[in-house]
Amino acid sequence: MDKSSNRLSLPASPREFGFYVNGACIPIGSREVFSRNSPGHDVPVTRIPKCTTDDLDMAVDAARAAFDDRRWSGLNGQARAAVLLRTGALIRERSEEIAYFETLENGKPISQARAEVAGCADMFEYASGLARSLHGDSFNNLGDGMFGLVTREPVGVVGIITPWNFPFLILCERVPYILASGCTIVAKPSEVTSATTLILAQILTEAGLPDGCMNVVTGSGSTIGQALIEHPHVDMLSFTGSTAVGRRVVEAAGRTNFKKLGLELGGKNPQIVFADADLEDAADGVAFGIGFNTGQCCVSGSRLVVERSVADAFAQKIQDKFARVVVGDPLNEATQIGAITTDAQNRTIMSYIEKGKAEGAKLICGGEQMDFGRGQYISPTLFGDVTSEMAIAREEIFGPVLAIMPFDSVEEAIMIANDTEYGLAASVWTKNIDKALMVTRRVQAGRFWINTTLSGGPELPLGGFRQSGWGREAGMYGVEEYTQIKSVHIEIGKRTPWIA
Ligand code: NAD
Repeated sequence: MDKSSNRLSLPASPREFGFYVNGACIPIGSREVFSRNSPGHDVPVTRIPKCTTDDLDMAVDAARAAFDDRRWSGLNGQARAAVLLRTGALIRERSEEIAYFETLENGKPISQARAEVAGCADMFEYASGLARSLHGDSFNNLGDGMFGLVTREPVGVVGIITPWNFPFLILCERVPYILASGCTIVAKPSEVTSATTLILAQILTEAGLPDGCMNVVTGSGSTIGQALIEHPHVDMLSFTGSTAVGRRVVEAAGRTNFKKLGLELGGKNPQIVFADADLEDAADGVAFGIGFNTGQCCVSGSRLVVERSVADAFAQKIQDKFARVVVGDPLNEATQIGAITTDAQNRTIMSYIEKGKAEGAKLICGGEQMDFGRGQYISPTLFGDVTSEMAIAREEIFGPVLAIMPFDSVEEAIMIANDTEYGLAASVWTKNIDKALMVTRRVQAGRFWINTTLSGGPELPLGGFRQSGWGREAGMYGVEEYTQIKSVHIEIGKRTPWIA
Protein backbone atom coordinates (compact mmCIF):
# COMPACT_ATOMS: atom_id res chain seq x y z
CA MET A 1 0.00 0.00 0.00
CA ASP A 2 1.27 3.48 -0.90
CA LYS A 3 0.06 5.17 2.32
CA SER A 4 0.39 8.72 1.03
CA SER A 5 -2.13 8.21 -1.76
CA ASN A 6 -4.33 5.36 -0.40
CA ARG A 7 -3.37 3.39 -3.46
CA LEU A 8 -2.31 -0.26 -3.48
CA SER A 9 0.94 -0.98 -5.35
CA LEU A 10 1.20 -3.18 -8.41
CA PRO A 11 2.85 -6.60 -7.89
CA ALA A 12 6.61 -6.69 -8.54
CA SER A 13 6.11 -9.72 -10.78
CA PRO A 14 3.12 -11.69 -12.04
CA ARG A 15 1.81 -14.45 -9.74
CA GLU A 16 1.82 -17.92 -11.26
CA PHE A 17 -1.14 -20.25 -10.65
CA GLY A 18 -1.58 -23.95 -11.38
CA PHE A 19 -4.95 -25.52 -12.05
CA TYR A 20 -6.75 -27.58 -9.40
CA VAL A 21 -7.76 -31.24 -9.39
CA ASN A 22 -8.51 -33.71 -6.59
CA GLY A 23 -7.57 -31.36 -3.77
CA ALA A 24 -4.19 -30.37 -5.22
CA CYS A 25 -2.74 -27.61 -7.33
CA ILE A 26 -1.14 -28.91 -10.54
CA PRO A 27 1.70 -26.65 -11.72
CA ILE A 28 1.82 -25.23 -15.26
CA GLY A 29 4.61 -27.64 -16.28
CA SER A 30 4.99 -27.88 -20.03
CA ARG A 31 1.56 -26.43 -20.77
CA GLU A 32 1.10 -23.20 -22.66
CA VAL A 33 0.62 -20.15 -20.46
CA PHE A 34 -2.01 -17.44 -20.50
CA SER A 35 -0.37 -14.22 -19.32
CA ARG A 36 -2.84 -11.60 -18.04
CA ASN A 37 -2.12 -7.87 -18.01
CA SER A 38 -4.02 -5.60 -15.64
CA PRO A 39 -6.52 -3.65 -17.76
CA GLY A 40 -6.03 -0.62 -15.51
CA HIS A 41 -2.24 -0.49 -15.90
CA ASP A 42 -1.26 -2.80 -18.74
CA VAL A 43 1.33 -4.69 -16.69
CA PRO A 44 1.49 -8.51 -16.31
CA VAL A 45 -0.23 -9.63 -13.11
CA THR A 46 -0.95 -13.35 -13.42
CA ARG A 47 0.21 -16.43 -15.35
CA ILE A 48 -2.31 -19.28 -15.72
CA PRO A 49 -2.06 -22.64 -17.52
CA LYS A 50 -3.93 -23.32 -20.72
CA CYS A 51 -5.29 -26.72 -19.75
CA THR A 52 -5.56 -29.50 -22.29
CA THR A 53 -8.63 -31.66 -22.85
CA ASP A 54 -6.73 -34.46 -21.02
CA ASP A 55 -6.55 -32.10 -18.03
CA LEU A 56 -10.28 -31.57 -18.28
CA ASP A 57 -10.91 -35.33 -18.41
CA MET A 58 -8.79 -35.72 -15.28
CA ALA A 59 -10.84 -33.04 -13.49
CA VAL A 60 -14.17 -34.56 -14.55
CA ASP A 61 -12.97 -38.03 -13.51
CA ALA A 62 -12.05 -36.65 -10.08
CA ALA A 63 -15.44 -34.96 -9.66
CA ARG A 64 -17.20 -38.11 -10.92
CA ALA A 65 -15.38 -40.38 -8.47
CA ALA A 66 -16.04 -37.97 -5.60
CA PHE A 67 -19.73 -37.89 -6.41
CA ASP A 68 -20.16 -41.60 -7.10
CA ASP A 69 -18.52 -42.80 -3.86
CA ARG A 70 -20.72 -40.38 -1.87
CA ARG A 71 -17.77 -38.89 0.06
CA TRP A 72 -19.65 -35.55 0.04
CA SER A 73 -23.31 -36.26 -0.73
CA GLY A 74 -23.30 -39.04 1.86
CA LEU A 75 -22.35 -36.68 4.69
CA ASN A 76 -25.11 -35.25 6.82
CA GLY A 77 -26.19 -31.64 6.44
CA GLN A 78 -24.37 -30.65 9.61
CA ALA A 79 -21.02 -31.85 8.26
CA ARG A 80 -21.54 -30.11 4.91
CA ALA A 81 -22.62 -26.93 6.71
CA ALA A 82 -19.45 -26.96 8.81
CA VAL A 83 -17.27 -26.94 5.67
CA LEU A 84 -19.27 -24.09 4.13
CA LEU A 85 -19.05 -22.05 7.34
CA ARG A 86 -15.29 -22.55 7.56
CA THR A 87 -15.01 -21.51 3.91
CA GLY A 88 -16.82 -18.26 4.70
CA ALA A 89 -14.39 -17.58 7.55
CA LEU A 90 -11.33 -18.35 5.37
CA ILE A 91 -12.63 -16.05 2.61
CA ARG A 92 -12.86 -13.30 5.21
CA GLU A 93 -9.29 -14.05 6.37
CA ARG A 94 -7.94 -13.88 2.80
CA SER A 95 -10.29 -11.13 1.61
CA GLU A 96 -7.56 -8.60 0.89
CA GLU A 97 -5.62 -11.03 -1.32
CA ILE A 98 -8.80 -12.06 -3.19
CA ALA A 99 -9.95 -8.46 -3.71
CA TYR A 100 -6.47 -7.49 -4.93
CA PHE A 101 -6.35 -10.17 -7.65
CA GLU A 102 -9.96 -9.47 -8.61
CA THR A 103 -9.04 -5.83 -9.17
CA LEU A 104 -5.77 -6.61 -10.95
CA GLU A 105 -7.35 -9.00 -13.45
CA ASN A 106 -10.75 -7.35 -13.90
CA GLY A 107 -10.01 -3.62 -13.47
CA LYS A 108 -12.83 -3.00 -10.98
CA PRO A 109 -12.23 -0.52 -8.12
CA ILE A 110 -10.59 -2.08 -5.08
CA SER A 111 -13.29 -0.76 -2.72
CA GLN A 112 -15.93 -2.52 -4.82
CA ALA A 113 -13.88 -5.74 -4.97
CA ARG A 114 -13.60 -5.74 -1.16
CA ALA A 115 -17.36 -5.35 -0.76
CA GLU A 116 -17.97 -8.18 -3.25
CA VAL A 117 -15.61 -10.51 -1.41
CA ALA A 118 -17.40 -9.81 1.90
CA GLY A 119 -20.68 -10.63 0.12
CA CYS A 120 -19.16 -13.90 -1.10
CA ALA A 121 -18.24 -14.98 2.45
CA ASP A 122 -21.85 -14.24 3.37
CA MET A 123 -23.05 -16.53 0.54
CA PHE A 124 -21.15 -19.46 2.06
CA GLU A 125 -22.40 -18.67 5.56
CA TYR A 126 -26.00 -18.47 4.38
CA ALA A 127 -25.74 -21.63 2.26
CA SER A 128 -24.45 -23.54 5.28
CA GLY A 129 -27.93 -23.20 6.80
CA LEU A 130 -29.51 -24.41 3.57
CA ALA A 131 -27.35 -27.56 3.62
CA ARG A 132 -29.18 -28.43 6.85
CA SER A 133 -32.67 -27.35 5.86
CA LEU A 134 -32.88 -28.81 2.34
CA HIS A 135 -35.65 -31.39 2.42
CA GLY A 136 -38.38 -33.04 0.39
CA ASP A 137 -42.06 -33.63 0.96
CA SER A 138 -44.42 -36.33 2.17
CA PHE A 139 -47.98 -37.39 1.26
CA ASN A 140 -50.16 -39.10 3.85
CA ASN A 141 -53.37 -38.42 1.90
CA LEU A 142 -53.01 -41.43 -0.40
CA GLY A 143 -55.23 -43.70 1.68
CA ASP A 144 -54.33 -46.01 4.56
CA GLY A 145 -52.47 -48.41 2.25
CA MET A 146 -50.01 -45.97 0.72
CA PHE A 147 -47.48 -43.41 1.90
CA GLY A 148 -45.66 -41.10 -0.51
CA LEU A 149 -42.28 -39.39 -0.20
CA VAL A 150 -40.61 -36.86 -2.44
CA THR A 151 -36.86 -36.62 -1.92
CA ARG A 152 -34.36 -34.20 -3.39
CA GLU A 153 -31.23 -35.87 -4.72
CA PRO A 154 -28.09 -34.02 -5.86
CA VAL A 155 -27.84 -33.93 -9.67
CA GLY A 156 -24.23 -35.16 -9.71
CA VAL A 157 -21.17 -33.56 -11.36
CA VAL A 158 -21.80 -29.89 -12.12
CA GLY A 159 -19.72 -27.88 -14.61
CA ILE A 160 -19.58 -24.14 -13.95
CA ILE A 161 -18.54 -21.67 -16.66
CA THR A 162 -18.18 -18.06 -15.54
CA PRO A 163 -17.53 -14.73 -17.29
CA TRP A 164 -14.96 -12.03 -16.50
CA ASN A 165 -17.19 -9.28 -15.11
CA PHE A 166 -17.66 -10.65 -11.56
CA PRO A 167 -15.24 -13.59 -11.47
CA PHE A 168 -15.49 -14.25 -7.73
CA LEU A 169 -19.04 -13.05 -7.04
CA ILE A 170 -20.69 -15.08 -9.82
CA LEU A 171 -18.70 -18.14 -8.73
CA CYS A 172 -19.83 -17.68 -5.13
CA GLU A 173 -23.44 -17.23 -6.19
CA ARG A 174 -23.19 -20.86 -7.34
CA VAL A 175 -20.52 -22.92 -5.53
CA PRO A 176 -21.93 -22.82 -1.94
CA TYR A 177 -25.43 -23.71 -3.14
CA ILE A 178 -24.16 -26.50 -5.40
CA LEU A 179 -22.09 -27.91 -2.53
CA ALA A 180 -25.04 -27.55 -0.13
CA SER A 181 -27.03 -29.80 -2.48
CA GLY A 182 -24.33 -32.52 -2.33
CA CYS A 183 -23.03 -32.18 -5.92
CA THR A 184 -19.38 -32.01 -6.97
CA ILE A 185 -17.88 -29.39 -9.28
CA VAL A 186 -15.59 -28.72 -12.26
CA ALA A 187 -15.30 -24.95 -12.74
CA LYS A 188 -13.91 -23.12 -15.77
CA PRO A 189 -13.43 -19.41 -15.18
CA SER A 190 -12.96 -16.86 -17.95
CA GLU A 191 -9.42 -17.09 -19.32
CA VAL A 192 -8.74 -13.44 -18.37
CA THR A 193 -9.90 -13.70 -14.73
CA SER A 194 -9.01 -17.13 -13.36
CA ALA A 195 -6.97 -16.25 -10.26
CA THR A 196 -9.71 -15.94 -7.64
CA THR A 197 -11.45 -19.17 -8.74
CA LEU A 198 -8.15 -20.98 -8.13
CA ILE A 199 -7.81 -19.31 -4.73
CA LEU A 200 -11.33 -20.46 -3.79
CA ALA A 201 -10.44 -24.07 -4.67
CA GLN A 202 -7.49 -23.95 -2.24
CA ILE A 203 -9.67 -22.40 0.46
CA LEU A 204 -12.31 -25.13 0.11
CA THR A 205 -9.70 -27.84 0.60
CA GLU A 206 -8.35 -26.02 3.64
CA ALA A 207 -11.91 -25.75 4.99
CA GLY A 208 -12.26 -29.54 4.85
CA LEU A 209 -14.01 -30.17 1.53
CA PRO A 210 -13.10 -33.73 0.50
CA ASP A 211 -10.67 -34.02 -2.42
CA GLY A 212 -12.26 -34.14 -5.86
CA CYS A 213 -15.36 -32.15 -4.89
CA MET A 214 -14.06 -28.84 -6.30
CA ASN A 215 -11.86 -28.88 -9.39
CA VAL A 216 -10.81 -25.96 -11.59
CA VAL A 217 -9.57 -26.10 -15.18
CA THR A 218 -8.34 -22.96 -16.91
CA GLY A 219 -8.15 -22.03 -20.56
CA SER A 220 -10.11 -20.61 -23.43
CA GLY A 221 -13.83 -20.96 -24.00
CA SER A 222 -13.44 -22.38 -27.49
CA THR A 223 -11.25 -25.30 -26.30
CA ILE A 224 -11.74 -26.16 -22.63
CA GLY A 225 -15.16 -24.50 -22.31
CA GLN A 226 -16.49 -26.26 -25.40
CA ALA A 227 -15.09 -29.61 -24.19
CA LEU A 228 -16.75 -29.11 -20.80
CA ILE A 229 -20.20 -28.36 -22.25
CA GLU A 230 -19.91 -31.47 -24.45
CA HIS A 231 -18.54 -33.73 -21.71
CA PRO A 232 -20.68 -36.88 -21.33
CA HIS A 233 -19.80 -37.34 -17.63
CA VAL A 234 -20.99 -33.91 -16.55
CA ASP A 235 -24.60 -34.11 -15.34
CA MET A 236 -25.44 -30.42 -15.16
CA LEU A 237 -23.91 -27.22 -16.43
CA SER A 238 -24.27 -23.76 -14.97
CA PHE A 239 -23.31 -21.28 -17.67
CA THR A 240 -23.05 -17.54 -17.12
CA GLY A 241 -22.09 -15.42 -20.08
CA SER A 242 -23.34 -14.11 -23.37
CA THR A 243 -26.56 -15.21 -25.01
CA ALA A 244 -24.54 -16.25 -28.10
CA VAL A 245 -22.42 -18.75 -26.16
CA GLY A 246 -25.52 -19.77 -24.16
CA ARG A 247 -27.03 -20.96 -27.44
CA ARG A 248 -23.96 -23.16 -28.05
CA VAL A 249 -24.36 -24.62 -24.57
CA VAL A 250 -27.95 -25.62 -25.34
CA GLU A 251 -26.89 -27.16 -28.68
CA ALA A 252 -24.03 -29.08 -27.07
CA ALA A 253 -26.29 -30.49 -24.34
CA GLY A 254 -28.76 -31.62 -27.00
CA ARG A 255 -26.01 -33.26 -29.07
CA THR A 256 -24.42 -35.11 -26.13
CA ASN A 257 -26.02 -36.30 -22.90
CA PHE A 258 -28.92 -33.85 -22.39
CA LYS A 259 -27.22 -32.49 -19.31
CA LYS A 260 -29.43 -30.28 -17.17
CA LEU A 261 -28.71 -26.60 -17.77
CA GLY A 262 -28.73 -23.40 -15.77
CA LEU A 263 -28.23 -20.34 -18.01
CA GLU A 264 -27.60 -16.78 -16.86
CA LEU A 265 -27.25 -14.66 -19.98
CA GLY A 266 -27.46 -11.06 -21.14
CA GLY A 267 -29.76 -8.17 -20.27
CA LYS A 268 -30.94 -4.78 -21.53
CA ASN A 269 -32.49 -3.62 -18.32
CA PRO A 270 -34.89 -0.69 -17.91
CA GLN A 271 -34.72 1.96 -15.20
CA ILE A 272 -38.30 3.33 -15.15
CA VAL A 273 -38.47 6.79 -13.55
CA PHE A 274 -41.83 8.47 -12.89
CA ALA A 275 -42.19 12.21 -12.34
CA ASP A 276 -43.40 11.58 -8.78
CA ALA A 277 -40.19 9.79 -7.76
CA ASP A 278 -37.64 11.28 -5.38
CA LEU A 279 -35.67 12.50 -8.39
CA GLU A 280 -32.42 13.14 -6.51
CA ASP A 281 -32.47 9.61 -5.16
CA ALA A 282 -33.47 8.19 -8.55
CA ALA A 283 -30.72 10.08 -10.40
CA ASP A 284 -28.12 8.73 -8.01
CA GLY A 285 -29.53 5.21 -8.39
CA VAL A 286 -29.64 5.41 -12.19
CA ALA A 287 -26.04 6.72 -12.33
CA PHE A 288 -24.97 3.89 -10.02
CA GLY A 289 -26.97 1.34 -12.03
CA ILE A 290 -25.00 2.08 -15.20
CA GLY A 291 -21.65 3.17 -13.68
CA PHE A 292 -21.21 0.23 -11.30
CA ASN A 293 -18.58 -2.18 -12.65
CA THR A 294 -18.21 0.21 -15.65
CA GLY A 295 -21.61 -0.99 -16.85
CA GLN A 296 -20.08 -4.43 -17.47
CA CYS A 297 -22.87 -5.96 -15.49
CA CYS A 298 -25.62 -8.28 -16.73
CA VAL A 299 -28.10 -6.32 -14.61
CA SER A 300 -26.84 -2.82 -15.53
CA GLY A 301 -29.74 -0.42 -15.97
CA SER A 302 -28.85 0.64 -19.50
CA ARG A 303 -32.24 2.00 -20.67
CA LEU A 304 -33.52 5.08 -18.84
CA VAL A 305 -37.29 5.03 -19.39
CA VAL A 306 -38.26 8.39 -17.90
CA GLU A 307 -41.54 10.34 -17.79
CA ARG A 308 -41.35 13.06 -20.46
CA SER A 309 -42.40 15.92 -18.15
CA VAL A 310 -39.17 15.51 -16.12
CA ALA A 311 -36.92 13.97 -18.78
CA ASP A 312 -34.76 17.05 -19.47
CA ALA A 313 -34.35 17.97 -15.82
CA PHE A 314 -33.54 14.34 -15.00
CA ALA A 315 -30.97 14.12 -17.81
CA GLN A 316 -29.29 17.20 -16.31
CA LYS A 317 -29.13 15.51 -12.91
CA ILE A 318 -27.53 12.42 -14.42
CA GLN A 319 -25.04 14.58 -16.29
CA ASP A 320 -24.11 16.30 -13.00
CA LYS A 321 -23.64 12.93 -11.31
CA PHE A 322 -21.46 11.64 -14.15
CA ALA A 323 -19.31 14.79 -13.95
CA ARG A 324 -18.61 14.09 -10.25
CA VAL A 325 -18.05 10.32 -10.29
CA VAL A 326 -14.41 9.32 -9.71
CA VAL A 327 -13.07 7.37 -12.72
CA GLY A 328 -9.51 6.09 -12.68
CA ASP A 329 -6.91 3.73 -11.25
CA PRO A 330 -8.76 0.72 -9.76
CA LEU A 331 -6.06 0.35 -7.10
CA ASN A 332 -6.92 3.76 -5.70
CA GLU A 333 -9.37 3.52 -2.80
CA ALA A 334 -11.32 6.61 -3.93
CA THR A 335 -12.04 5.24 -7.42
CA GLN A 336 -15.70 4.49 -8.23
CA ILE A 337 -15.39 3.49 -11.91
CA GLY A 338 -12.34 1.51 -13.00
CA ALA A 339 -10.99 0.12 -16.25
CA ILE A 340 -12.71 -1.73 -19.08
CA THR A 341 -11.79 -5.38 -18.59
CA THR A 342 -10.67 -6.46 -22.06
CA ASP A 343 -9.40 -4.79 -25.25
CA ALA A 344 -12.20 -6.45 -27.18
CA GLN A 345 -14.85 -5.10 -24.80
CA ASN A 346 -13.29 -1.63 -25.00
CA ARG A 347 -13.59 -1.73 -28.79
CA THR A 348 -17.18 -3.04 -28.58
CA ILE A 349 -18.28 -0.20 -26.28
CA MET A 350 -16.61 2.46 -28.45
CA SER A 351 -18.21 1.00 -31.56
CA TYR A 352 -21.68 1.21 -29.94
CA ILE A 353 -21.02 4.84 -29.05
CA GLU A 354 -20.17 5.52 -32.70
CA LYS A 355 -23.26 3.59 -33.82
CA GLY A 356 -25.46 5.65 -31.46
CA LYS A 357 -24.14 8.86 -32.97
CA ALA A 358 -24.49 7.54 -36.53
CA GLU A 359 -28.09 6.41 -35.92
CA GLY A 360 -29.06 9.93 -34.81
CA ALA A 361 -29.06 9.73 -31.01
CA LYS A 362 -27.85 12.87 -29.21
CA LEU A 363 -24.63 12.44 -27.25
CA ILE A 364 -25.31 14.46 -24.07
CA CYS A 365 -22.07 13.69 -22.28
CA GLY A 366 -19.13 11.26 -22.18
CA GLY A 367 -18.53 8.95 -25.10
CA GLU A 368 -14.77 9.19 -24.90
CA GLN A 369 -11.78 7.08 -24.14
CA MET A 370 -10.14 8.60 -21.01
CA ASP A 371 -6.38 8.90 -20.92
CA PHE A 372 -4.65 8.11 -17.61
CA GLY A 373 -1.31 7.34 -19.25
CA ARG A 374 -1.95 3.59 -19.28
CA GLY A 375 -4.88 1.16 -19.19
CA GLN A 376 -8.27 1.54 -20.90
CA TYR A 377 -11.05 3.73 -19.55
CA ILE A 378 -14.32 5.10 -20.99
CA SER A 379 -16.17 8.10 -19.57
CA PRO A 380 -19.79 7.51 -18.41
CA THR A 381 -21.92 8.24 -21.45
CA LEU A 382 -25.47 9.58 -21.79
CA PHE A 383 -27.48 9.50 -25.02
CA GLY A 384 -30.76 11.38 -25.57
CA ASP A 385 -33.23 11.18 -28.50
CA VAL A 386 -32.95 7.39 -28.50
CA THR A 387 -35.63 5.48 -30.39
CA SER A 388 -36.56 1.86 -29.89
CA GLU A 389 -35.07 0.54 -33.12
CA MET A 390 -31.55 1.91 -32.47
CA ALA A 391 -28.80 -0.56 -31.61
CA ILE A 392 -28.02 1.31 -28.37
CA ALA A 393 -31.66 0.76 -27.30
CA ARG A 394 -31.83 -2.93 -28.22
CA GLU A 395 -28.42 -4.56 -27.82
CA GLU A 396 -26.45 -5.26 -24.69
CA ILE A 397 -23.46 -2.88 -24.79
CA PHE A 398 -21.89 -4.04 -21.50
CA GLY A 399 -20.34 -0.63 -20.83
CA PRO A 400 -21.12 2.71 -19.14
CA VAL A 401 -23.58 3.85 -21.80
CA LEU A 402 -27.09 4.99 -20.84
CA ALA A 403 -29.88 5.55 -23.40
CA ILE A 404 -32.80 7.87 -22.54
CA MET A 405 -36.26 6.81 -23.79
CA PRO A 406 -39.08 9.12 -22.61
CA PHE A 407 -42.70 8.03 -22.02
CA ASP A 408 -46.06 9.75 -21.46
CA SER A 409 -48.18 7.12 -19.66
CA VAL A 410 -47.79 4.08 -17.39
CA GLU A 411 -48.87 1.84 -20.27
CA GLU A 412 -46.20 3.30 -22.54
CA ALA A 413 -43.55 2.88 -19.83
CA ILE A 414 -44.46 -0.82 -19.47
CA MET A 415 -44.48 -1.26 -23.26
CA ILE A 416 -41.00 0.29 -23.68
CA ALA A 417 -39.64 -1.71 -20.74
CA ASN A 418 -40.91 -4.98 -22.28
CA ASP A 419 -39.73 -4.12 -25.80
CA THR A 420 -36.62 -6.32 -25.58
CA GLU A 421 -35.68 -9.94 -26.16
CA TYR A 422 -34.16 -10.01 -22.67
CA GLY A 423 -35.79 -10.13 -19.23
CA LEU A 424 -33.09 -10.12 -16.60
CA ALA A 425 -33.77 -7.13 -14.33
CA ALA A 426 -35.71 -3.87 -14.01
CA SER A 427 -36.02 -0.96 -11.58
CA VAL A 428 -38.91 1.39 -10.98
CA TRP A 429 -38.72 4.74 -9.22
CA THR A 430 -41.98 6.29 -7.90
CA LYS A 431 -43.53 7.24 -4.58
CA ASN A 432 -46.90 5.88 -5.74
CA ILE A 433 -47.13 2.31 -4.46
CA ASP A 434 -49.97 1.36 -6.84
CA LYS A 435 -47.88 2.37 -9.85
CA ALA A 436 -44.78 0.65 -8.51
CA LEU A 437 -46.63 -2.62 -8.01
CA MET A 438 -48.47 -2.46 -11.33
CA VAL A 439 -45.18 -1.98 -13.18
CA THR A 440 -43.47 -4.70 -11.13
CA ARG A 441 -46.21 -7.19 -12.02
CA ARG A 442 -46.27 -6.44 -15.73
CA VAL A 443 -42.64 -5.92 -16.70
CA GLN A 444 -40.98 -9.20 -17.69
CA ALA A 445 -37.85 -9.51 -15.55
CA GLY A 446 -36.38 -12.04 -13.14
CA ARG A 447 -35.14 -9.39 -10.69
CA PHE A 448 -36.94 -6.22 -9.76
CA TRP A 449 -35.99 -3.21 -7.66
CA ILE A 450 -38.40 -0.57 -6.36
CA ASN A 451 -36.79 2.78 -5.46
CA THR A 452 -33.36 1.20 -5.47
CA THR A 453 -31.20 -0.79 -7.86
CA LEU A 454 -28.58 -3.55 -7.95
CA SER A 455 -29.10 -4.50 -4.31
CA GLY A 456 -28.91 -8.18 -3.47
CA GLY A 457 -27.86 -10.82 -1.02
CA PRO A 458 -27.84 -14.56 -0.57
CA GLU A 459 -31.54 -14.93 0.27
CA LEU A 460 -33.15 -13.78 -2.98
CA PRO A 461 -32.70 -15.85 -6.15
CA LEU A 462 -31.16 -14.54 -9.40
CA GLY A 463 -32.09 -15.34 -12.98
CA GLY A 464 -33.86 -14.14 -16.06
CA PHE A 465 -37.03 -14.35 -18.12
CA ARG A 466 -36.98 -14.77 -21.93
CA GLN A 467 -33.51 -14.90 -23.55
CA SER A 468 -31.82 -13.88 -20.30
CA GLY A 469 -31.69 -17.49 -19.22
CA TRP A 470 -33.10 -20.58 -17.56
CA GLY A 471 -33.29 -21.44 -13.88
CA ARG A 472 -32.32 -19.57 -10.74
CA GLU A 473 -29.20 -19.25 -8.64
CA ALA A 474 -28.81 -18.43 -4.90
CA GLY A 475 -31.26 -18.77 -2.04
CA MET A 476 -33.06 -22.06 -1.41
CA TYR A 477 -34.22 -21.91 -5.05
CA GLY A 478 -30.54 -21.99 -6.04
CA VAL A 479 -29.91 -25.16 -4.01
CA GLU A 480 -33.00 -26.85 -5.40
CA GLU A 481 -31.82 -26.18 -8.98
CA TYR A 482 -28.96 -28.60 -8.34
CA THR A 483 -31.23 -31.38 -7.13
CA GLN A 484 -33.55 -33.71 -8.92
CA ILE A 485 -36.75 -35.03 -7.49
CA LYS A 486 -37.43 -38.65 -6.67
CA SER A 487 -40.95 -39.87 -5.87
CA VAL A 488 -41.20 -42.85 -3.54
CA HIS A 489 -44.42 -44.90 -3.19
CA ILE A 490 -44.53 -47.04 -0.04
CA GLU A 491 -47.16 -49.77 0.31
CA ILE A 492 -48.40 -50.21 3.87
CA GLY A 493 -49.51 -53.79 4.51
CA LYS A 494 -50.35 -56.19 1.70
CA ARG A 495 -50.83 -55.19 -1.98
CA THR A 496 -54.12 -55.96 -3.71
CA PRO A 497 -52.98 -58.92 -5.86
CA TRP A 498 -52.94 -58.54 -9.66
CA ILE A 499 -53.39 -62.27 -10.30
CA ALA A 500 -55.96 -63.78 -7.99
P1 NAD B 1 -18.79 -15.09 -22.93
O1 NAD B 1 -20.08 -15.75 -23.25
O2 NAD B 1 -17.91 -14.70 -24.04
O3 NAD B 1 -17.90 -16.01 -21.99
C1 NAD B 1 -18.40 -16.54 -20.77
C2 NAD B 1 -17.63 -17.80 -20.44
O4 NAD B 1 -17.90 -18.75 -21.46
C3 NAD B 1 -16.12 -17.64 -20.38
O5 NAD B 1 -15.60 -18.46 -19.36
C4 NAD B 1 -15.68 -18.17 -21.74
O6 NAD B 1 -14.36 -18.67 -21.73
C5 NAD B 1 -16.69 -19.27 -21.96
N1 NAD B 1 -16.90 -19.66 -23.36
C6 NAD B 1 -16.72 -18.92 -24.49
N2 NAD B 1 -16.98 -19.67 -25.58
C7 NAD B 1 -17.35 -20.89 -25.14
C8 NAD B 1 -17.76 -22.10 -25.78
N3 NAD B 1 -17.83 -22.20 -27.10
N4 NAD B 1 -18.08 -23.15 -25.01
C9 NAD B 1 -18.04 -23.06 -23.67
N5 NAD B 1 -17.64 -21.97 -23.01
C10 NAD B 1 -17.30 -20.89 -23.74
O7 NAD B 1 -19.18 -13.85 -22.01
P2 NAD B 1 -18.21 -12.76 -21.38
O8 NAD B 1 -17.80 -11.85 -22.49
O9 NAD B 1 -17.16 -13.40 -20.55
O10 NAD B 1 -19.23 -12.03 -20.39
C11 NAD B 1 -20.14 -11.10 -20.83
C12 NAD B 1 -21.52 -11.67 -21.01
O11 NAD B 1 -21.93 -12.39 -19.86
C13 NAD B 1 -22.59 -10.62 -21.19
O12 NAD B 1 -23.48 -10.97 -22.22
C14 NAD B 1 -23.34 -10.61 -19.86
O13 NAD B 1 -24.64 -10.15 -19.89
C15 NAD B 1 -23.25 -12.02 -19.47
N6 NAD B 1 -23.41 -12.15 -18.02
C16 NAD B 1 -24.60 -12.61 -17.54
C17 NAD B 1 -24.80 -12.70 -16.16
C18 NAD B 1 -26.09 -13.17 -15.59
O14 NAD B 1 -26.14 -13.50 -14.40
N7 NAD B 1 -27.16 -13.21 -16.34
C19 NAD B 1 -23.77 -12.37 -15.30
C20 NAD B 1 -22.59 -11.90 -15.83
C21 NAD B 1 -22.41 -11.82 -17.21
